Amino acid sequence: MVKEKLKIIKGDITTMAVDAVVNAANTSLLSGGGVDGAIHRAAGPELLEECKSLNGCATGSAKLTKGYRLPARYIIHAVGPVWRGGAKGEPQLLASCYETCLELALQYEIKTIAFPAISCGVYGYPISQAAVIAMKEIADFLEQHDQIEMVYFVCFDDSAYDAYHHALDSLNHD
Ligand code: ADP
Repeated sequence: MVKEKLKIIKGDITTMAVDAVVNAANTSLLSGGGVDGAIHRAAGPELLEECKSLNGCATGSAKLTKGYRLPARYIIHAVGPVWRGGAKGEPQLLASCYETCLELALQYEIKTIAFPAISCGVYGYPISQAAVIAMKEIADFLEQHDQIEMVYFVCFDDSAYDAYHHALDSLNHD
């Protein structure tokens, strides 16, 4: 039952005691604002050192680091697309971000993972559309791979919380 593995919660992703938290990073992988700033502050300066060694990351992809002072063991830094109206490949790039995160999760034997609403802050992706893509990509992946036991959608605000619930309700999975 895929739906039982999808949990929508309100809160701060930096406090999540999971195998991996996902960061909404930028292509430089060097510290930004929003959730990225919060993760770097909470993880401590060693995180930036490791990020500097990664040579950035393409939009639609993701790279993994250690979690340092976070309760999470790993951080997966995903680079979502900047919203430019929706016809510039944004949905495909966002889907590819989620897929890369999940592939990395498989590779590192991650069982529990927490996602923020990638691209839905400064990058301006409409949350209702992003939530549908996130839910579908993750649910399809969980259907194929049973290693991942729990996926948390960590919402910083009510609009994200409502959008994820709506997307979960309209999912074609049990
Ligand atoms: P992007 O540049 O990809 O849009 P942002 O960090 O600006 O990334 O925003 C992504 C989402 O993360 C937004 O919905 C924002 O409200 C949310 N967010 C910001 N800080 C946190 C946090 N500490 N925990 C969880 N979500 C957060």
